[in-house]
Amino acid sequence: QDFKGKYPKQLWGLFFSEMWERFCFYGMRGVLTYFMVTHLILNTGGHMNAVQANLQYGATQAFVYAFTFIGGLFADKILGFRKSLFWGGILMIVGSAILAFDPFPENNFFLGISFTVIGTGFFKPNISTMVGSLYKRDDSRRDAGFSLFYSGINIGALLGGYACIAIGKGQLFTSFIPAQYTWNVAFGLAGVVMTISLITFLFTQKTLGPIGLSPFRNKEEDVVKVVRVEGIETVKPKEPAVIPVKVKSGKGWYEYAVYALTLALIPVIMTMVAKTEYTDYFMYIIGPATLVYLVYEMTKHTWAESKKLIAALVFILFSIIFWAFFEQSGGSLSIFAAQNLNNVVAGTLVLDPNGVNNAANSVFVIIFAPLVGLVWVALAKKKIEPNTVIKFGMGFLFLAAGFYVLYATRFFEVVAGSGIASLDVFVLAYFVITFGELCLSPIGLSIMTKLSPQKLQGVMMGMWFLASAYGQYVAGILGAGLSEGGENDSLPQKLATFTDGYYQLAIYALIAGVVLIAISPLVRKLMQEVK
Ligand code: GLN
Repeated sequence: QDFKGKYPKQLWGLFFSEMWERFCFYGMRGVLTYFMVTHLILNTGGHMNAVQANLQYGATQAFVYAFTFIGGLFADKILGFRKSLFWGGILMIVGSAILAFDPFPENNFFLGISFTVIGTGFFKPNISTMVGSLYKRDDSRRDAGFSLFYSGINIGALLGGYACIAIGKGQLFTSFIPAQYTWNVAFGLAGVVMTISLITFLFTQKTLGPIGLSPFRNKEEDVVKVVRVEGIETVKPKEPAVIPVKVKSGKGWYEYAVYALTLALIPVIMTMVAKTEYTDYFMYIIGPATLVYLVYEMTKHTWAESKKLIAALVFILFSIIFWAFFEQSGGSLSIFAAQNLNNVVAGTLVLDPNGVNNAANSVFVIIFAPLVGLVWVALAKKKIEPNTVIKFGMGFLFLAAGFYVLYATRFFEVVAGSGIASLDVFVLAYFVITFGELCLSPIGLSIMTKLSPQKLQGVMMGMWFLASAYGQYVAGILGAGLSEGGENDSLPQKLATFTDGYYQLAIYALIAGVVLIAISPLVRKLMQEVK
């Protein structure tokens, strides 16, 4: 096995696999709200109103990320990362196929969405964990690897987010797609692309050595293979093995039980997604439940390992705040973009401000993630790379600066007193916020893989994404508060209400960053040798 080179070839395999999965996911996510308001035929006969659609959207997003915890847990305990990823991918394909066939009736729609939700839960955390397994514990290429992987995420997000809605709305490939089938094709495309993702992974897994195999294996030779692999930490006697080397044979049926359980969960998810108040209950329960579970796991691990888990928890808790602010982009910022921005960038380019709101972040990530990755490697060479806690703190400082720029849009009206602010300044805000994301999100994936003991890799990655679920959930509440300004307010009044809100978020982000940097010595102590 060779995981060598600045970016190992296995990383590229995982990169493309995740890129296509994100195409499918963001493609679906991008059409969700619009589709529910304009085309979905409810059991009552009509379409959904905007408020309900927003709540439903928030609920779906929260469930998606909440199920990553369950996907990670089953991967650790029973399926292994590879099988989990496959199972998730297949569920996502089935979800898209249901929607491609006939998405319009309410029941079909929510059935398809539920498959996608739970499929993502099995896929998303586990591919990230496998990226982490490509590196030894103290490998300085790890953060850079995750930065590159993060570009892949955003290429997929950008392409899928653009293509599915454009096809659905009948703006793309119009000469090939009959007008009445545009939505079928849009959902179908997501499924086709997801199939490409799984095929890519099929080839990649051949090069992965023991990474991601199930802890339950019946065949002797799997185990022998693990022991023979050289150059991977698994065989180092002192470190915990990447894959438990003991064969736990005869437990193959556990695997089928997981598949059966997943399918049994589909109607439950359907009900919960459809009734958004259930989402509230679910969110009240799942977080505390995972904490209790983690404490239980800690009792089975050494104090040194537990301290690392506590450090991981600090990162996870701070990331909730980060995502709650960051995810304004899908909520209040899209309303802000629709009503308070002009549509010209750099004096010449005419662009739809909502399109800019959806795409700017991904474009900046694609351009700058590899650069930021290289900066970390260069700083590491000079031995001045900031540690993870400081990087997280920097993430919040960029976030604060970005929200300050959003606040400042009020000083850049295209015509004084019009309430229409400059799109250029808005784009600048996204530019700054993206650097915050790059200091926190890929680094967060990376640090989860460093701080978690081998047997909890999947669970901890799931918890990292669970923070995103809470972030999305809180983002909706914050966004609703920000958008509260009266419907009949004038545009300048609306501009003032939004930007006042962004000013407050800037202050809170600043405080979070300062607090994190202030407690960094403490967190570093918990992290011990991990940087
Ligand atoms: N945009 C990133 C992704 O899709 C991060 C999402 C998140 O953790 N909230 O993977």
